[in-house]
Parts: sequence; C-alpha cells; structure tokens
Amino acid sequence: MDDIILDVQNLKKYFPIRGGVFQHTVGYVKAVDGISFQLKRGETLGIVGESGCGKSTAGRTILRLHEITGGKVLFNGKDIAKLSKKELRKKRLEMQMVFQDPYSSLNPRMTVGQIIGEALIDHKLMDKNQAKEKVEEIMEVCGLPSYYINRYPHEFSGGQRQRIGIARALVLDPQFVICDEPVSALDVSIQSQIINLLGDLQKERNFSYIFISHDLSVVEYISNRVAVMYLGNIVELADKNEIFDNPLHPYTKALMSAIPVPDPTRKRERIILSGDLPSPSNPPSGCKFRTRCPMACDKCAKEAPEYRDIGGGHFVACHLV
Ligand code: SF4
Repeated sequence: MDDIILDVQNLKKYFPIRGGVFQHTVGYVKAVDGISFQLKRGETLGIVGESGCGKSTAGRTILRLHEITGGKVLFNGKDIAKLSKKELRKKRLEMQMVFQDPYSSLNPRMTVGQIIGEALIDHKLMDKNQAKEKVEEIMEVCGLPSYYINRYPHEFSGGQRQRIGIARALVLDPQFVICDEPVSALDVSIQSQIINLLGDLQKERNFSYIFISHDLSVVEYISNRVAVMYLGNIVELADKNEIFDNPLHPYTKALMSAIPVPDPTRKRERIILSGDLPSPSNPPSGCKFRTRCPMACDKCAKEAPEYRDIGGGHFVACHLV
C-alpha cells in the first residue's frame, strides 16, 4: 500500500547474556519480543510504556542502530535487515532520529553549523557553500537565528540544543523521524515549544513520526495513534481518542488512571499496579503482565494472549477482551 511508509512485522531484538570463564551465551534479554505495526505517511504513532519496556530499543532497532534479531522492517517496501552497510547508510538519509538528551548527543567540539551540516558534506550531497545555505535555512525553520551558526553547543540552553538536534535530523529532508523522549530532559515550559515545533514541521513537510515517551499527556497531544508496550511486546494499539477514551488492556487502564483529570468535580479511580517490571531475561510464563494484573486468571499463566484486531484497527493482547 502506497500510504504505508513503515511496516514492522514481528520485530525482535535480543541481547545475549554472557557468563562463565569462556563467556558463552547463557541467556537473552528479550528487549523487543515480536512487535508488529504499520505507520502511514504523515502519521504520528506514539509508543508509551514504563522505562525498561523496550520502547527505545524498538526505535533503535527499526533504524538498525541495533542489529535485528528477527522479523522484518519494511521501509517503503524495502527490508531494512537485508540492506548492505553501504545501502543502509544511504537509506538512513530518509530515516532520522531525534535523541532524548540534547546535552550528550551534540559534539561539544563542533560548531552548530558543523553539527547540522555534517551529513550533507559526508554524503557529498552538496558543496560547502550550498551546505551552509541549507544549514542556515533549517536553523531558521527550527527557531534558531542563523547567525548562531559558528557557536558551540555549550553556548545554548537545553531547549535550543534540542532544536539543534531536530535541525540536524531534518536538514536531510527525511521521510520518517523517530523521536526518542525528545522533551523529557527539558523544562515543562520548553517542552510545549518543542512539541509545537515538531507538529508544525510535520504539517509543512508531511513526514511520519514515531514518538517514544513515558509521558502520556505529551503522547496524547502529538499522536494520531498510540501503542502501549509492556516487557518487549505491544499490548494495545489504537487510534488516540479510542485508546484514551476506551482503554481495554488492564495495563493501559492502569496507565490511563494515573493521568490527572483537569475537572475537580470528576474523580478517576486510580489503579495502582503492584510489583516492579519483571526482568526481560526471565519473563513470566503465559501473559507477561500476569504477575501485576488485577484480572489475572489460570489461563493467563498457561497461554500467551494473541495480539489481535478487535475491530476498527484497535489491537489488544488480553484473554479477557
Ligand atoms: Fe491480565 Fe490475563 Fe489479560 Fe494478561 S491476559 S492482561 S494477565 S487478564
């Protein structure tokens, strides 16, 4: 289908655990354990979940910053896993990432102009003068005065540094951008500026986002659809309004119950989950959420629930739904 830019099929990323004198593989951390979804052109898919649920690893594996353990990532119909290193380098121009920490993701020894224009020069897309023009243009688009081009990252505030990170990702005119917790290191007042900037740029340039965050209100604001991850799996995925108004999976219900209600006359019943996230190297049998689920039954320990479309593109993995 032409309007599908990204098709993720049963994607897995396992990290080996080594032990013993000979450092043999004694197990695996199953950080991403078979996730599937599609992303439309111009769409924003939010991925939410607790820290350690595998959402950032999923983002990095989709871009093959981590090698893929299993499954497929089709970008415009091409399987990313099958690309040679040279082909992948070229493909990456169309797929970019904005990182969480604007402080550590910028080289302190390079000027802003060098940081943003590096890929244009490295890939020989244009000469130095053209690259400078392009960098100045994208700086202005991202709300950074172009006369800052010769300044160094330490001369900028946190919000400005994240704008540099966004400009670096967008200077290549990508079709698809993964934003990995792009505002969680910023002050609340700056967060909304960056979120609005990302939204405006998407409208102008029609690219697709995967927006990874633990902050549900940010995800609700920016996403068209939302996927909820738990211990390496997507447990629920649906249209934004559907998932916020009608969450079906017990884990999604617990997450939603923690969002403050702005109306003081309304009260939402808070569902407190007991226990911590189990280890992805030794997940519970059957449904991975069963050790914390208030609705768990015998079947949940024996059988993993099927992740299925229950109608209208609302996917959920729970025996009781
Ligand atoms: Fe809870 Fe069972 Fe549903 Fe898992 S399958 S979410 S344990 S009710």
